[in-house]
Amino acid sequence: MVLFLEAPKIVIKPPGPKARVYTELEARYVSTGVGVKLFPLVPERAYGCVIIDVDGNKFIDLLAGAAAANIGYSHPALVKSVEEQVRRMQHSMIGYHYNVRAIELAEKLVRITPGSFAKKVIFGLSGSDACDLAMKVARFSTRKPWLLSFIGSYHGHTYGAASISSFKGLMKRGFSPVIPQVAWVPYAYCYRCPFKQEYPGCGVYCVDYVEEYVLNHVVPQDEVAAVFVEPIQGDAGIVVPPKEFLVKLRKLCDRYGFLLVLDEVQSGMGRTGRWFAVEHFNVEPDLLICGKALASGMGVSAVVGRAEVMDIPSGTGLLTPAANPVASSAALATIEVIEREGLMENAVRIGGYFLRRIEELKRKYEVIGDVRGKGLMIGVEVIRDAKTKQPNPELTGMICWRAFELGLILPSYGFNSNVLRITPPLVMSVELAEKACNLIEAAVKDAVEGRVEKASVTWR
Ligand code: PMP
Repeated sequence: MVLFLEAPKIVIKPPGPKARVYTELEARYVSTGVGVKLFPLVPERAYGCVIIDVDGNKFIDLLAGAAAANIGYSHPALVKSVEEQVRRMQHSMIGYHYNVRAIELAEKLVRITPGSFAKKVIFGLSGSDACDLAMKVARFSTRKPWLLSFIGSYHGHTYGAASISSFKGLMKRGFSPVIPQVAWVPYAYCYRCPFKQEYPGCGVYCVDYVEEYVLNHVVPQDEVAAVFVEPIQGDAGIVVPPKEFLVKLRKLCDRYGFLLVLDEVQSGMGRTGRWFAVEHFNVEPDLLICGKALASGMGVSAVVGRAEVMDIPSGTGLLTPAANPVASSAALATIEVIEREGLMENAVRIGGYFLRRIEELKRKYEVIGDVRGKGLMIGVEVIRDAKTKQPNPELTGMICWRAFELGLILPSYGFNSNVLRITPPLVMSVELAEKACNLIEAAVKDAVEGRVEKASVTWR
């Protein structure tokens, strides 16, 4: 894999001539619904944490395909498992006869998810449809319609998942009517507290608010099926709640008989240094949703939940390619690699390195605001100044653009489009992390000193 050494290396200013062919073809043939690109990166191949584009440029990747390539790209164990399974049998319809790989995967998932009770699994293909399945399970098992969800949450783009999301208005604009009986409540976003309070003095009031106001005045409390929550809000900008937040929420759910549903699509599969981020908070969810990195981005998602609520009527959670044997093999290989190669420990080690370096940067540049995260799920707020903490999406876009020009895939997202996203593959080495941090520093310096003419897209 010599090809992937010496990254980053820009041999031609991107987008190069071959990349431009694809950017033009996509504009003509592919719906903008798939997403307007942050920058014109046209990957041709990738290995570990390095992506090579169609023109031969080498990039260090801090995106991991949106926290999906946790074991890196084209890991030999992943390649082997997929190759073997596709030769044996590429499809085994889960609803009509048994699917051996899916059953093995269900057993593994029950073992690695938190909760010392009996659990069962239902499979989807993406984080979004897994959220829909969890909504079905919650409503069917409780026979209650209402769902509570958090402001800033991103659960996906199927009708169900979009209906419980409240990340940006554009997720619903023009698509109404969305699924009814959903109420949104503020998340514990302490750097920008919706109640303008300070932690810990606030006593994590945001959870009390749900009880005092929402359950008493907004929704019929005896008709609530479940609370959907991300243990760390991902697309909102890697918002890490204080340690009491999920504990209080669990207690609230227990008092009222709501199911607690943890969306770990982004935070799961070792990314935060544990299999699932909720483990940092000592809380056991009733349902847990995983996707993205479960099969290294290859189209398997799952809801793992208390056995007694999971049995919805035969076939009502059936999707033809769900837990497809090839993708399930990829998931089994992914789980094995995370365990065997100590990738959770590496996430903590390399995550710690990133946090230290970015904290240093914060001391040098006032525009670097809150730096937060767990393991390799790190967010960095870019602000106008330390006093007002006003979000600075323009500068964020410029930092990302310069990083791209230098050979670093550094995307942004966030509630206010001002958060640098550091979610690389968990196989990252210290050497590569050091190079990545040097490039972040160079990009911040150039952007702050006015040497960057373009900005990456920051709307999502
Ligand atoms: N839930 C969370 C927490 C996510 O971050 C995402 C994707 N960003 C989804 C659900 C939707 O997953 P998918 O794109 O695979 O449908």
